[in-house]
Amino acid sequence: MISLSKDICLKFKEARQAKGLNQSALAQQVGCKQSAISMFESGMVTKLSEETVRRIAEFLGVSLEEESKASSNAVSDIPFQVAVHGYCPNCECPSNIPYVVNGRLYYKADRKTASPAGGKRCTQCGEILETCCPSCGAPLNDGACCAACGNAYVTPVVPEGIDMETFARNRRIEIAQIRSF
Ligand SMILES: [Zn+2]
Ligand SMILES: [Zn+2]
Repeated sequence: MISLSKDICLKFKEARQAKGLNQSALAQQVGCKQSAISMFESGMVTKLSEETVRRIAEFLGVSLEEESKASSNAVSDIPFQVAVHGYCPNCECPSNIPYVVNGRLYYKADRKTASPAGGKRCTQCGEILETCCPSCGAPLNDGACCAACGNAYVTPVVPEGIDMETFARNRRIEIAQIRSF
């Protein structure tokens, strides 16, 4: 079954009027009833067979192909939405929990906090989220570093004038306070 929008049916009507034909004259030309043309022009396309519609289109010079292509494009233009829980690359964001391992500062990226429902931006600080490893493109894991390339997800800013362990501990307390509000 051919599917046509009301807009196209309207084009048929305009094309018919442009040719100076009334509905019965067109019906005679293409071999159908005037009432079928009338219904067709008002959007009830099921009243005519596909063959008749094509005959009318040809007779009036209305293109069906172009229109059906345009409508299928419109369908594929609808973005396919998947909830991706990205992580926030901002080391100062409360979604990233700092801790120290072997004298190095790491941030465990809490993706559920940064992106509870998926989306492009961090719900905590507004930063654009990363949805895969920025170094190698591997899928994210819940740790601080990429399992594929070993790079840290969040680049730490090492604090000056304060012991790293103390910094990480203080920051964790601060984050716990921010989050409990
Ligand atoms: Zn953030
Ligand atoms: Zn990686």
